[in-house]
Amino acid sequence: MAGAGEKVDYVFKVVLIGDSAVGKSQILARFARNEFSLDSKATIGVEFQTRTLVIDHKSVKAQIWDTAGQERYRAVTSAYYRGALGALLVYDITKRQSFDHIPRWLEELRGHADKNIVIMLVGNKSDLEEERAVSTEDAKEFAEKENLFFLETSALQATNVENAFQTVLSEIFKIHS
Ligand code: GDP
Ligand code: MG
Repeated sequence: MAGAGEKVDYVFKVVLIGDSAVGKSQILARFARNEFSLDSKATIGVEFQTRTLVIDHKSVKAQIWDTAGQERYRAVTSAYYRGALGALLVYDITKRQSFDHIPRWLEELRGHADKNIVIMLVGNKSDLEEERAVSTEDAKEFAEKENLFFLETSALQATNVENAFQTVLSEIFKIHS
């Protein structure tokens, strides 16, 4: 990990998108600070958080952007998407509607972002198996059809969060290094 003043070889912008309350901010808190909070304050202020990691002996700074409560349809501005090389497209496995909205988010993303953008479909809250409303098969099938990576995560249990970001960042690295 690079400390203050250490050299950074690459900075990759990655955006988090998806409906409100699917867990975007907690996924980011888990990845950037290894933290999780169960009380659902809406995201305030901070535009992005960073974490520096090493990929292929290079220092890569991931700059992860989180929406500040602009999750209504078409409310996310083009500045948010500008320069993004990767995206986590997040739904909540216990909220069918958040999965049904994924095509819209994908359309918006593809309309605004880099044409080579690396996209990971993320079904969050996998710890709530007994409340599941979206099958893994449905999501996998959608991801394959749309050429997206796919993982189910739990920000609460720290399941697959690291894996999701690592996959996206390594793939970006392959394309842009
Ligand atoms: P956002 O609006 O998409 O940023 O969602 P938040 O990150 O604010 O999370 C919304 C609510 O879901 C909060 O109460 C979180 O604590 C909760 N939450 C987020 N991730 C998980 C998870 O993996 N499992 C469970 N059980 N709850 C989660
Ligand atoms: Mg949030």
